[in-house]
Amino acid sequence: MTDPRPTALRSPERRESILRAAVREGLLDPEDALLAGFLDLDAVAATVGSLHRAFPDSVDVLHAFAAKANSLVPVLAELRGLGMGCEVAGPGELAQALAAGFDPERIVFDSPAKTRRELRRALDLGVAVNIDSWQELARIDELLADRADTADRAEHGAPEPRSRIGVRINPQVGGGSIGAMSTATASSKFGIALADEGNAERLVEAFRARPWLTWLHCHVGSQGCTPDLMAEGVAAVAGLARRINGELGRRQVVGLDIGGGLPVDFHSDLAGPGYDEYVERLRVHVPALFSGRFRLVTEFGRSVLAKSGFTAAYVEYTKTSGGRAIAITSAGVQVATRTVFAPESWPLRISAHDATGAEKRGEPVAQDIAGPACFAGDLVARARALPLLEPGDIVVLLDTGAYYATTPFAYNGLLEPAVHGVRVASDGTVRFRPLRRAQTVEELLARTGG
Ligand SMILES: *Cc1c(COP(=O)(O)O)cnc(C)c1O
Repeated sequence: MTDPRPTALRSPERRESILRAAVREGLLDPEDALLAGFLDLDAVAATVGSLHRAFPDSVDVLHAFAAKANSLVPVLAELRGLGMGCEVAGPGELAQALAAGFDPERIVFDSPAKTRRELRRALDLGVAVNIDSWQELARIDELLADRADTADRAEHGAPEPRSRIGVRINPQVGGGSIGAMSTATASSKFGIALADEGNAERLVEAFRARPWLTWLHCHVGSQGCTPDLMAEGVAAVAGLARRINGELGRRQVVGLDIGGGLPVDFHSDLAGPGYDEYVERLRVHVPALFSGRFRLVTEFGRSVLAKSGFTAAYVEYTKTSGGRAIAITSAGVQVATRTVFAPESWPLRISAHDATGAEKRGEPVAQDIAGPACFAGDLVARARALPLLEPGDIVVLLDTGAYYATTPFAYNGLLEPAVHGVRVASDGTVRFRPLRRAQTVEELLARTGG
């Protein structure tokens, strides 16, 4: 098996050296930079390398990074440089992907709520589109007819859409351990439900009538779904592809977009299932995927970045209440939204450091790690056993490279922190580069009509 994430890139020692360098350089400062996100770009490159290696060379595959997991333009540009495409879910992410330099043909547009204008733009650019519903299919029919009319008037003949156009299927294989992240339940809001009465037949006829429908798509869930469940969903969609091609007597479905969703281990420095393990499960459940008959797209997000990022925050005050030790920090709901609102589903590991960034030693004491927001639930950990924290210490929220500081929640006017890219040279020198500046109070005022 390939080693998906070399342990040297996941070690507490490496994080500590990055943290110490950040303090030395003032990227973390008890007055001016109380909170910041960090993304280890060497570790990201290793993870993306493991993704590329996991799929055999004989398969034509585009790994489209799910932009919602971390849509900072320099991060997207970095992933483009590592050979990835980009999956987007609306005009904002499309703009971010284009700004990051992705070719439109390497961008995939998924959303259950695409507007006419968004679809027209995607078709004009040649961005791949996965249709989510029967009504969206009808809308695409209209848009393509409009384009044909325009072309006819210009005496050019009806143009075939440049975009790869597919249909998102809900394979209805069931949910994972987090309801809100499970997109292949019987009644999920996403895609066309494969097992619902009449839908499979209707899909075959839809493809028969539209030679430009050439892809099928599914995304079984994000976090909490096992690789086996994900592979079962892909198998159902591959089965539909074979049925369509069989009934039509032609190879119309040429590609399968198998989505993302590989779960991340939030409990240790181990990697969780690697891409190679997932590919093994896919080989078992869907051998046709590797026959070379289908082009593939993947849409991984969290598993590409989560373990390569962390969020660091100063402890401002400590107290005890009702016998519970509490550390009040600057990291709360604005950078750890899911963890604060759904702590059972999204536990985070936390490490404790002194003001120099060195890991704290000492007897573990159960402590609440609280954020700055003005509601009682703004806790990133409850009764967590850590060396007793003191004002001026630093807490580090681990595995937060995706969906955390880069996906902020606006509350109490809390400002979006800076995010720094990190590389460590072979001699141990730590180098930072800005991925996002910290938001300023002036920017916040402007945004809130001030
Ligand atoms: C969120 C999402 C992904 C990425 O999921 P991860 O769990 O971050 O890998 C991929 N495809 C679609 C359609 C999504 O909505």
